Amino acid sequence: MAEKLGFIGLGIMGLPMALNLRRAGFPLSVYNRTKSRTVPLKDAGAAICTSPKDVAANSDIIFICVSDTPDVNEVLFGKEGVAAGAKKGSVVVDMSTISPDSTRRFAADLKMAGIDMLDAPVSGGEAGAIAGSLSIMVGGKEEVCRRVLPFFQKLGKNIVLVGDHGAGQVAKACNQIVIAVTIEAVGEALLLAEKSGVSGHKVREALMGGFAGSKVLEVHGNRMLNDDYKPGFKAKLHRKDMGIVLDTAKNLQLPLPATTLVTLHMDEVIKSGDGELDSSAIFKALRKN
Ligand code: NAP
Repeated sequence: MAEKLGFIGLGIMGLPMALNLRRAGFPLSVYNRTKSRTVPLKDAGAAICTSPKDVAANSDIIFICVSDTPDVNEVLFGKEGVAAGAKKGSVVVDMSTISPDSTRRFAADLKMAGIDMLDAPVSGGEAGAIAGSLSIMVGGKEEVCRRVLPFFQKLGKNIVLVGDHGAGQVAKACNQIVIAVTIEAVGEALLLAEKSGVSGHKVREALMGGFAGSKVLEVHGNRMLNDDYKPGFKAKLHRKDMGIVLDTAKNLQLPLPATTLVTLHMDEVIKSGDGELDSSAIFKALRKN
């Protein structure tokens, strides 16, 4: 029998991901805390639930894409949470970016209730979520990953089982170091061009063809040059990810100097009231200094 799917968290990422699963023809139940965001799913034929518990009761595989570690905790183990409704043998697939340590704890607690878990954070942004071309970094057991693979294939193109529980979140933390430090580098480069009286647009165009070329230079560079900071990826969420990176590194007694510096600049973005803007708004902070 076809697996019944659930999706919890219909934000910038979750909404297009859930739509892709529904449009691929899978039976889908969804929940979002703010009900108005469920309208496109209702129109696409998904069942709208009133709690994570209801989603879990109606589903074999439950996808989650919410903001932060405490939010996943609440969605899983709150009074109306997934654990209160899920059947034995069901799978929770957490696609949020959260702490690797907490992920391992969540997986162990769910296992005691007979529920499997995968951590499966993503990279590729809203555009990748809409196109179904995300990079998906999976942590968990191979047989569970194999069961979920046909659904991952509707969400992403590059699907890698990185290791056991938490390994997907460690990969995502690594991803966020590269993105954050590159955003900072692109911002500094474009600022140098601006202050030198040279066209940033032309510099970006020239750099795109060489080793400095990257998705960040392409997408975030463009946002900086056009002063267009509509998210994208909210600065406050990127700062949340830097917290995950730095906590993980601290536990390993690993200093990450470049990551630490970019995090300070992200703090400035948030302090100046721009936390809801795209994280490329770091360029605004660099310009001020
Ligand atoms: P978003 O647009 O801010 O959406 C957050 C979603 O989480 C909303 O549906 C929100 O519900 C829900 N939520 C938050 N706290 C909750 C709680 N306590 N209980 C129930 N629902 C809760 O964020 P997003 O950009 O989609 O990001 C979602 C996750 O994906 C984050 O972990 C983020 O780091 C990660 N991510 C984002 C991107 C990106 O480019 N945007 C890329 C890769 C990974 P409401 O609608 O009620 O607020």
